[in-house]
Amino acid sequence: MQSQLMKWFSKHQRELPWRKNYNPYEVWISEIMLQQTQVATMLPYFERWMKVFPTIESVAKASEDGLLKQWEGLGYYSRARNLRKAAIQIMEKHDGKFPDRYEAILKLPGIGRYTAGAIASIAFNQEKPIVDGNVMRVLSRLNNDGRNTRASNVVQVYWKWSESLIPKGNARNFNQAIMEFGALICTPKSPLCGSCPLQQECRSFKTGTVNQRPNRGISRGKEKISVAVAIIENMNKIFVQKRAQKGLMGGLWEFPGGKLERDETAEEGLKREISEELGIEVKSIRPFMTIKHAYTRFLVDLHCFRAEYAGGDITLNAAIDYRWVEVSEMNQLPFPAANKQLIQYLISKGL
Ligand code: SF4
Repeated sequence: MQSQLMKWFSKHQRELPWRKNYNPYEVWISEIMLQQTQVATMLPYFERWMKVFPTIESVAKASEDGLLKQWEGLGYYSRARNLRKAAIQIMEKHDGKFPDRYEAILKLPGIGRYTAGAIASIAFNQEKPIVDGNVMRVLSRLNNDGRNTRASNVVQVYWKWSESLIPKGNARNFNQAIMEFGALICTPKSPLCGSCPLQQECRSFKTGTVNQRPNRGISRGKEKISVAVAIIENMNKIFVQKRAQKGLMGGLWEFPGGKLERDETAEEGLKREISEELGIEVKSIRPFMTIKHAYTRFLVDLHCFRAEYAGGDITLNAAIDYRWVEVSEMNQLPFPAANKQLIQYLISKGL
């Protein structure tokens, strides 16, 4: 199975920028971007990132806003903040050179067992295992394994399998081959079993259970949330605030507002949030538009209002910074995707 997979990989692998010379810095950035993001989506981000931040040193010296701006649209912004922390650590503890010891890689901020294994094997050809969605899908189908792959004891079995399968001296090719095979052939919804080089070995194919593997237990589905935000205007400028560093979108800029509580209308929720979080008065509140956006883990209804500043000193109770900006300046700041849609609309309308 291993030699067939690697043979397939040598013929069909995609030409990806970090595969040209397996530079550890490029492999690291690609692996962090690929967490929760597909190759096709992340590629333009990767190319742009490498132009702006060609070295580890340039990441360490960048401002947090500058990094988040380059990350804007990729989501899970703690990844970008951790990249900066890790780059600073590499400059201080490893003389600016990406560490090649697995234990040292694992100690860097934002790097867990999967990413450390991926970097150690892909950049340094070390025999370290990787288990991600692709690897689990391929192995569960080849073995016709009906156990719940969300269960932690089952995940541990896959780590052991993955480790035992690495051919000596070929970790780089094998680990990439199994992931690439999962992404291109043994895909989640429509696997290409008809042209699969592993069809003869595949137990799920033989027993007709391909579509039932992997068994992922009961899915929780996406949480739905409703949020109200205000475009508060004052002397042709608009109020924006910076979120606290922690959390999913920590450190990004946003319009003020927040999550609606049960049985609260969007306008009531907005007034409550502005009074609780900013302590200012606003007037002429009027509905503007509603944006629906699907994030990876939840679906958001963003109810947008326009309003005018009516007085009072700004007291930040949740945000950590604020600015009054013109619409055109907003493109310089990193915003979450749903806010970004609102900004594009404001710009298109010349507001
Ligand atoms: Fe995957 Fe189908 Fe190949 Fe089995 S035969 S490994 S299910 S693509």
